[in-house]
Amino acid sequence: MSLDLRTWPRPDRGALFVVSGASGTGKTTLVQEALRRMPNLTFSVSATTRPPRAGESDGIDYLFVSPEAFEQLRQTNELLEWAEVYGNRYGTPKGPVLAAIARGDSILLDIDVKGARQVRRALPEAVTIFLLPPDMATIETRLRARSTDSEAVIERRMAEAREQLEGAAEADYIVVNDALESAHDQLQAILVAELCRRHRHPTLVERFGA
Ligand code: ADP
Ligand code: 5GP
Repeated sequence: MSLDLRTWPRPDRGALFVVSGASGTGKTTLVQEALRRMPNLTFSVSATTRPPRAGESDGIDYLFVSPEAFEQLRQTNELLEWAEVYGNRYGTPKGPVLAAIARGDSILLDIDVKGARQVRRALPEAVTIFLLPPDMATIETRLRARSTDSEAVIERRMAEAREQLEGAAEADYIVVNDALESAHDQLQAILVAELCRRHRHPTLVERFGA
């Protein structure tokens, strides 16, 4: 899809996008491309107690913190949501999310289904997008091909994939990540359509006396 996004009207209030899906479905891959394609879209960097994978940077992919530091964030109410996923804790720092929305920037969260539920409760305006693999076997193939996790970690993620897949029934949008380019376009189409919704542009509508 070829779009000149620089000419877009800026929404009065940014959108909050939540992407979820089982491990290995392609969330990171799709989210990174969406951030490349879309202006004024920020990624919410989560705090996690998981150790960094090769190639991940602190402050960019995650804020890598100790269990004690995570507990501190939680107790001081600095997290919009948090959950234990595949044996580690992950949470969304609240401040950057609220600040981005208030200044008219949109923000995208890559979080698990338990976290997505909490976000929907706290901020019902959130737009939830669920990624599905073409089939279950593909998740395993992709996790192995990614070569970032031990056998034990891959098995745990496969065992818990079903729980995450429950999120499909609760999401506003579904994207099937089979052919990658098509999945990129599907996600972009969703983000674009959401940002064009009338309720995000009250100033523009008023200006024309509608
Ligand atoms: P997640 O963040 O959901 O765990 P990743 O984005 O890390 O998933 O993707 C898992 C692996 O699958 C990565 O190695 C990625 O390059 C690969 N991958 C993602 N989407 C596709 C696709 N459509 N076809 C083939 N491989 C893919
Ligand atoms: P990974 O370890 O593969 O980066 O992420 C594992 C799972 O944790 C993924 O489902 C991812 O979406 C989820 N996750 C990442 N950050 C957060 C977060 O801040 N909160 C919640 N609830 N889940 C998260």
